[in-house]
Amino acid sequence: MRVFKFGGASISSKQSIDNVLHIIESYANDNLVVVISAMGKITNALELLMKAHHEDQIEEIKKQYTEIVKYHLNIAQELFGDSDEHKMNTGYLLKQLDNQLKKEPTENYDYDYDQIVSFGELLSTQLISDYFNYKGLQNQLFDARFLIRTEDTYREARVDWEKTKEKVQQQIGGLFKDSNSKIAVTQGFIGATAEHNTTTLGREGSDYTAAIIAYTMDAKDVTIWKDVPGLLNADPKYFPDAVLLDEIPYREAIELAFYGASVIHPKTIKPLQNKQIPLYVKSFINPSHEGSLIQGNLLQNTIPCYIFKRNQVLLSIIPKDFSFIEEENFSLIFGLFAHFGIRINLMQNSAISFTVCADYKPNRFQALVDELNTEFSVRYNLDMELITIRNYDDKTIDRILNHRKVFFEQKSRSTIQMVVGKTQ
Ligand code: ASP
Ligand code: MG
Repeated sequence: MRVFKFGGASISSKQSIDNVLHIIESYANDNLVVVISAMGKITNALELLMKAHHEDQIEEIKKQYTEIVKYHLNIAQELFGDSDEHKMNTGYLLKQLDNQLKKEPTENYDYDYDQIVSFGELLSTQLISDYFNYKGLQNQLFDARFLIRTEDTYREARVDWEKTKEKVQQQIGGLFKDSNSKIAVTQGFIGATAEHNTTTLGREGSDYTAAIIAYTMDAKDVTIWKDVPGLLNADPKYFPDAVLLDEIPYREAIELAFYGASVIHPKTIKPLQNKQIPLYVKSFINPSHEGSLIQGNLLQNTIPCYIFKRNQVLLSIIPKDFSFIEEENFSLIFGLFAHFGIRINLMQNSAISFTVCADYKPNRFQALVDELNTEFSVRYNLDMELITIRNYDDKTIDRILNHRKVFFEQKSRSTIQMVVGKTQ
């Protein structure tokens, strides 16, 4: 069996959904699991809705909810015309979302987030699965909340691999038993706890879902269908001369994804590497093009790769009493970063200071700084950018920096990482 993942951009209109249908039809000889994320930019809209709900902004709730309803009903209308029977499921889900919005927000923002934002995937998969069946592409829709078991770190839930494996094998495995041309459709990004509370795996987490399912089912391969030709050595929005990486090993792909190449969710690759399942990244616009293939361990790539991670904070932490930065300090500092869920991307220590480049999340960051301030003096710069170049040389560095000031730098033989100020 094979696993396909389609993201928001590939299913944002009837035309694009038809395109996905054609792609799937052309692979009809294999059992397929099709993992789908929310349509278009619906997850962003749901985030706004969620925030308005938490802040009790009635007008904003109405506005965002109406947009979301309109968007899905329009697509349903385009897909099914006047066949009301096929629009019922969508209407039912929108009603469920409305019910969710009628509930008082709880104390737990992240929990509420998952209960609301997960509707993007519930709606898209329902619509698409119904549409495929309507067009004669037989498929079965699986609710990912009965497949992907997680613990309860809402918005970034960790997977219970054992339970998930059991469930996926039982349900999807059941469908595929004695067959080689069945299609299972399911949601990316979402899962559920043992108590059956909905969780999410982190933004852009549908890729990860595809990898989880592939891992548990020993899939032949995984394909992530994108609006770019594959994995490129730089973001073509900023680098018109970006080139396609035909084949790269898992490790290189993990590094690229971790430091912000936004093509694949960083957690996707490890499970595939563990089972040596090849990962294709292909264009849904040109499905017959080769795309990129991630597999193996041999590093062949020597093309420089440029990765930019924006919205970073550079933070220096200095013990107030001018004692040295020592192990007890580290354990306290790391404990606080973990506690507030702030990811460190780069770090360095000197005798009396510890410097960190981390993702900037306003509320959590302020809480972290407040805590750190009890033991340390803290200085920081906001609006920083972390630039990673793999396979760098002097020329590539000059090209990227273009006279911008480097605040912080780390180099290994293959990789240079620099924290720089915002571009003017
Ligand atoms: N819909 C979710 C998001 O936009 C998950 C995904 O797209 O992978 O973050
Ligand atoms: Mg998405």
